[in-house]
Amino acid sequence: MKRIITIVGARPQFVKAATLSREFIRAGIDEKIVHTGQHFDANMSDVFFTEMEIPQPAYQLDINGVGHGAMTGRMLEGIEKILLTEKPEGVLVFGDTNSTLAGALAAAKLHIPVIHVEAGLRSFNMQMPEEINRILTDRISSLLCCPTDAALKNLAAEGFDNLPVQIVKNGDVMQDAALYYARKASEKATVLNHLPVKRFVLATVHRQENTDDPVHLKGIVEGLNAIHREVPVVLPLHPRTRNILQQSGLTIDFITIDPVGYFDMISLLQNCQLVVTDSGGVQKEAFFFQKQCITLREQTEWVELVEHGFNRLTGSNPNLIQESFFQMMNQQSDFSVNLYGNGEAARKAVSEILKY
Ligand code: UDP
Repeated sequence: MKRIITIVGARPQFVKAATLSREFIRAGIDEKIVHTGQHFDANMSDVFFTEMEIPQPAYQLDINGVGHGAMTGRMLEGIEKILLTEKPEGVLVFGDTNSTLAGALAAAKLHIPVIHVEAGLRSFNMQMPEEINRILTDRISSLLCCPTDAALKNLAAEGFDNLPVQIVKNGDVMQDAALYYARKASEKATVLNHLPVKRFVLATVHRQENTDDPVHLKGIVEGLNAIHREVPVVLPLHPRTRNILQQSGLTIDFITIDPVGYFDMISLLQNCQLVVTDSGGVQKEAFFFQKQCITLREQTEWVELVEHGFNRLTGSNPNLIQESFFQMMNQQSDFSVNLYGNGEAARKAVSEILKY
């Protein structure tokens, strides 16, 4: 394949797309980016294109602020029109958002091969919109690029070995991004200058199962308040979480800041004592930057982090969050195990795309 349409829309996809776009240019592949508009604020979108030098999108669909059904439906319609005009040889989608599913579905219905980067991941929790997006996207993809052995196993268990599709383990493109941009971040990041504290725990919260459930949200806020009494907690606020917290009436003792760009995020990860998150990507980034991680969920797709003791699942239980904090602050881990490849994941994916 030499002509690719890439679909992005949400923050983690910009980080992943940055690694592939660089390799596409190197390989002489003609890539056009479609931005669905799922995330649109300057600090949730533009900053990533600028800092990570991602080619500007050829198409902006500007679809946001509506429910899952309307969002996915409008994206499907918008992407189909673009694919009919552009007639690409393949459509590349990342991860597990509504943009991922809409891109895959639009392409598959037009018999255009779908390349799914971050294929095979499962949380086994069908209440998560992301799990539905992952399963459906994998099933209609032609080239499935898996980051981990667990992802390969999941696909095998679902009978993918009997399907006429190509499955490869290429490693984790977020590891590529962390390695590549860490050098630039050390020169460009400024966030630490603006923090009122030097020693801190980094937290992020944005999963719908946490923000939209008042019991979960209360438990997490109590847990973070408890940690904050020991070590200050710094939380860059996702817009969804900001809106819900404002209406919740909950008392927040910890430090909240606006969402930060990728360079600043790397700096926060490098300099924190520990990470507390419900993000998929940030769990791995904690490991890349050799930090222990508390995950505010009942399950994770990144099971190898839990198996190796780098990550603990606490859900939203404030006592468990606090207890895990004390245990993990005193825990020494050897982070030298290679779980996600050595920064070659995008290159491997592109070499498979060229062969396809
Ligand atoms: N991120 C960032 N600034 C922030 C919060 C997150 O640059 O204020 C980055 C983070 O380092 C990771 C990506 O955004 O690379 C993860 O996105 P998010 O947590 O929104 O999504 P998920 O990984 O859960 O799908």
